[in-house]
Amino acid sequence: MKRYRDFNTYLREQFGERVQRISLDAGLGCPNRDGTVSTGGCIFCDGRGSGTGAFTKERLPISGQIEKAERFIRKRYHARKFIAYFQSFSNTYAPAFHLKQLYDEALSHPDMVGLSIGTRPDCVDREILEMIGAYRKDYLVWMEFGLQSAHDQTLQTINRGHSVACFERTVHMSHDFGLNVCAHVILGLPGENRSMMLDTARFITALPVQGVKIHSLYVIRGTPLAERYRKEEFRCLERDEYANLVVDFLELLPPDTVIQRLTGDPGKSDLLAPDWAVYKMENLKCIQDTLERRKTWQGRLHPKSISGV
Ligand code: SF4
Repeated sequence: MKRYRDFNTYLREQFGERVQRISLDAGLGCPNRDGTVSTGGCIFCDGRGSGTGAFTKERLPISGQIEKAERFIRKRYHARKFIAYFQSFSNTYAPAFHLKQLYDEALSHPDMVGLSIGTRPDCVDREILEMIGAYRKDYLVWMEFGLQSAHDQTLQTINRGHSVACFERTVHMSHDFGLNVCAHVILGLPGENRSMMLDTARFITALPVQGVKIHSLYVIRGTPLAERYRKEEFRCLERDEYANLVVDFLELLPPDTVIQRLTGDPGKSDLLAPDWAVYKMENLKCIQDTLERRKTWQGRLHPKSISGV
């Protein structure tokens, strides 16, 4: 039994069968890279904007990316329904009409049942959120906003280019349009201790956020973070340390928050440190074992569980 509310189970509850995300790269770029906010980008970000690189490298249109991924996913997971996951860079960084064309193209696939849009919290406005909100009539819709930490000092250290307050405003604005919100969090950021990381869990819990994605800080070659790692300006978490932090984090979240991710999935050749970050299945098992060993579960310390509401 899973001791947290994982995304696959949630999707089965919604659709009665396995649903698989298809990661898409719309080639939209990022204001934290093109000079609008900054030119450096987040210090951990690779040149693919945390995505597949399918558009940037191969110039594949959205429909071509879906066709390519679908063949593999149908065979490997026996999934018959899909969610279009706009993952790479900032997927609301364009005029609303252009974004709509991209989302419509993805959703025109007959087996597409949902839309998930990864972006920065400073990269949406009411017009865009209203346009996305209209898809809720026919599809499951999630907005995914990078927060990473609830501490402005850390956001400055990692060159996020937006504040915690900006994230908070955007979450409320998304809520106004009935959108599900997933917050992205990184544990082990430079300068953060356990107490600061758990502050982030408490911060999220106080907002209308329905989902969370967590991963440990890992260092990709060629990033500004790699430079700092070589200078020994910070250290990476050990696997057990990370698993215990994840469990601490999960205990504070509401029991019904959907946990969309608990580990990163870096490519072996790109990864500088820590070595264990590439072993996704082992890392998930370590988290599950830690939950078992500590006899705990998601939401154990959340007021909803304590009061039985
Ligand atoms: S906001 Fe995303 S795409 Fe942009 S620099 Fe940061 S991690 Fe990379």
